[in-house]
Amino acid sequence: MIPQSQVSCQTDSSDRGTWQSQLISAIRDPEVLCQRLRLNTSDLSLSAQAHKDFPLLVPIAFAELMETGNPDDPLLLQVLNRSEEDTNPPGYSDDPLQEQGFNPLPGLVHKYPGRVLLIVTGKCAINCRYCFRRSFAYGDNNPGRQDWQAAISYIRERSNITEVIYSGGDPLSAPDKHLAWLTEQLEEIPHLKRLRIHTRLPVVIPDRINDDFLSWVTKSRLRTQVVLHINHPNEIGEELIKAVKKLINAGIQPLNQSVLLRGINDSVETLQALQEAGFDAGIMPYYLFCLDRVRGASHFEVPLNKAHKIWTELQQRLPGYLVPRLALEEPGENSKTLL
Ligand code: SF4
Repeated sequence: MIPQSQVSCQTDSSDRGTWQSQLISAIRDPEVLCQRLRLNTSDLSLSAQAHKDFPLLVPIAFAELMETGNPDDPLLLQVLNRSEEDTNPPGYSDDPLQEQGFNPLPGLVHKYPGRVLLIVTGKCAINCRYCFRRSFAYGDNNPGRQDWQAAISYIRERSNITEVIYSGGDPLSAPDKHLAWLTEQLEEIPHLKRLRIHTRLPVVIPDRINDDFLSWVTKSRLRTQVVLHINHPNEIGEELIKAVKKLINAGIQPLNQSVLLRGINDSVETLQALQEAGFDAGIMPYYLFCLDRVRGASHFEVPLNKAHKIWTELQQRLPGYLVPRLALEEPGENSKTLL
C-alpha cells in the first residue's frame, strides 16, 4: 500500500458528490491525468490511436490512489494508453474468447451450462487497457426494456439455468432503478437461484455501494454474490474498505478476481499483499486470471510458466483460503481452465 503522504491530493469522498456525478467528472484526457500526477506526457510514450480506439477513462477517486510523480505507478499503468498498444503480435484479436459465437440474443451470452451472462450495459467507470471486452460489440448488445423480455424468456425456457451473472461493461454503471426492475423479472423464474454481479465500479468509485443499491439487492429472493475486480493492493483504499463493510453488513460476502498483469502485479510479493489487504478488508480471493489475448494488451502478458511459478510460491506463503485459483479462459471450453 502507498503511505497516504505519497498519494496525490486526497479528497473527502463526501466532496465528490454522487457516484453518478463522479462518473460524469471522470478524467478523460491523458494530459489532464498526467498533469494531476505531475508527469510529463512527452516523457511517457503515449499512443493517440490507442486513446482514440479505447479512450482513457479514470474516476478521480481511483486517480487519487496513484502515486504522484511515478510513471510506473501500477494503477496508472492499468489505464494509460501506452504506445505498446500499437504492436499486435499474432494470436491477439478483438474477441479473444469468441463470445460473439455465444451471444444468441442481444444482451445475453450463454457460454457455460447452468448460467448465463447478461450484458446489462456497455458502459464502464474506468477503461482498463487489458480488458478482453475492449472491442466487444456493445452497440448490438444494448437491449431496451422490451428487448430484455426476449432474454428473460430464454432463461425461463431453460430450467437448467440456475444462475444469472450481471456483466458488461460494468453492470453497476446502470441505474439502480433498471437493475431493480431486471432483478424483479428474474425473481419470477422459479428455477433461478442465484444472481452474481461482476463489477469493478465499487473499487474505482466506492460511493457506488449506497442505500439505493443495497435496498434492491438485499430484498431479492436470489442469493447474491458480488465479485469485485482488484489487481493491486494499492487499489484497496479506506473508501473501498468502508464500501466492503456495507456489503458485508448487508449479508453479502465479496469475492475478488484479478488479472495477472506484467509490470503491475506479476510478483509473489504484490500478490501476497493483495490477498492479505483484501482479507483484512473482508474480501475473499476467487480467481487470478491469465491475460486474455485481446488486441492492444500484449505488453501485459505474463508467460504461463512464470504465472504458474508465481502462483506456486504464493500457495507456499499463504493459507489455502487466501490463494486465488489460477485460471485461463479458453474459447469453447465448458468451464475455466485451472492451471
Ligand atoms: S471495468 Fe471491467 S469491463 Fe470495464 S474496462 Fe475494466 S475490466 Fe473491462
